[in-house]
Amino acid sequence: MKYYSTRDDSLRLTASAAILQGISSEGGLFVPEEFPKIELSELKGLTYPALAAKILGLYLTDYSAEFLAHATETCYGTAFGEEVAKTVKVHEGLYSLELWHGPTCAFKDYALQLMPHLLVEAKRIQKDESRTLILVATSGDTGKAALEGYKNLPGIEIAVFYPESGTSETQRLQMVTQEGNNVHVYAVKGNFDDAQTGVKRVFTNKEFAAELAQKNCHLTSANSINWGRLAPQIVYYFASYLSLVAQGEIKEGEPVDFCVPTGNFGDILAGYYAKRMGLPVGRLVCASNSNRILTDFGESGVYDAAREFYKTSSPSMDILVSSNLERLLLHKSQDAQFVAKLMTSLAGEEKKYEIPEELKQSILEDFAFGACDEAACFAKLAETYKSHSYLADPHTAVALEVAATQQGSAPCVVLSTANPYKFSAAVLKALGESAEPSDMANIAALHALTGAAVPAPLAELSHKTARFGETIRPEEILRVARSL
Ligand SMILES: *Cc1c(COP(=O)(O)O)cnc(C)c1O
Repeated sequence: MKYYSTRDDSLRLTASAAILQGISSEGGLFVPEEFPKIELSELKGLTYPALAAKILGLYLTDYSAEFLAHATETCYGTAFGEEVAKTVKVHEGLYSLELWHGPTCAFKDYALQLMPHLLVEAKRIQKDESRTLILVATSGDTGKAALEGYKNLPGIEIAVFYPESGTSETQRLQMVTQEGNNVHVYAVKGNFDDAQTGVKRVFTNKEFAAELAQKNCHLTSANSINWGRLAPQIVYYFASYLSLVAQGEIKEGEPVDFCVPTGNFGDILAGYYAKRMGLPVGRLVCASNSNRILTDFGESGVYDAAREFYKTSSPSMDILVSSNLERLLLHKSQDAQFVAKLMTSLAGEEKKYEIPEELKQSILEDFAFGACDEAACFAKLAETYKSHSYLADPHTAVALEVAATQQGSAPCVVLSTANPYKFSAAVLKALGESAEPSDMANIAALHALTGAAVPAPLAELSHKTARFGETIRPEEILRVARSL
């Protein structure tokens, strides 16, 4: 299987080269040249690691089967406990795929546990002996999941930069107590944009790139545009479907809808790959919060990023440029030149592009779009808890609400992307309780109220000692990167 760029279809790279390079030189994202097909009968009864090795083996064809079997066992064999890709019934016809039973209690663990192993192996296959420096600007979940995934890996150094007052206390504690011999964590004065702009400036600094090259070192990021981060997410769609068949909830071959709380469009796009591979997926329902740019796009065919940005209680969905949508545009249009034009237009002064009606209709054959505001999210969170004893975090609640408003005839699986205790203050408020400034107090209060189990990685936080405490200005990120 070879990969080309969404903006240049003359390229052909192996999987390891695409993963090592991350993003194509003209700015496009790497996509596989075809969708490998697989029969459900080949997958029944496999453990999650074996399922992952089988599916990933179809895409990562220059990785050996032995490597994939070993890496998937290392990442998924025990780190998610018995709960790997656990699919539970909320009520008749509605299910929750709980993706937060991993080390950082967020769905990003599925990708960020495996991706580092894929990168280290890519370097080996490509005979790249350089040191890799990973810089991550984070508003919370990505930073912690990346630290946990890359810790102690040979040839890699990772530094995470979070806005001083822009994460929840839980998220901050998760990061500053991070263990590992190659990890670095800094608070940055300002908001997430300040941290992100500071990191981007380091990435585009030519002088620094040259310095690093001299030291046989190169920079990379951990965000979701790398193929090695997207591919592992395809697996849990298959796992969830097979689990519903095994539980007797659906008949094999019956279509199922998936409703996905969406930010960068990576998670839901993995569902599209699963569908194209042959999984009986009905509709992929894209759920947005008040930042409803994707919903507007689905309705009008115009992607318009020149709009107000809202901070919500589902911060991982507070995104105006959903990078992975570019991959869908390529697959649907089959025209890299056209996609390149759209992206130039988005990066330009107008910050928008428009697609032809025909292309929009083609997207709507597989996708539905819906959005919900804070009030509707909180109301749904409370209603789901009171009527069905199911406690969801605000991201999942957005998807539950959109799944209800966009309900079709097929059973629907909502992707539950974070454990509710990660967002205790918002969950308490949604349930009509008051929240304290301290998240540790909120976790205790939410536990007293609901009795839901507090995941061990969060329960342990209050006993852990902080290893990192430095606060820097955005301009200092370069100095810090130079010192690593
Ligand atoms: C990252 C994240 C999302 C959004 O996923 P995308 O792949 O960016 O669309 C949703 N919920 C949570 C909790 C997340 O951390």
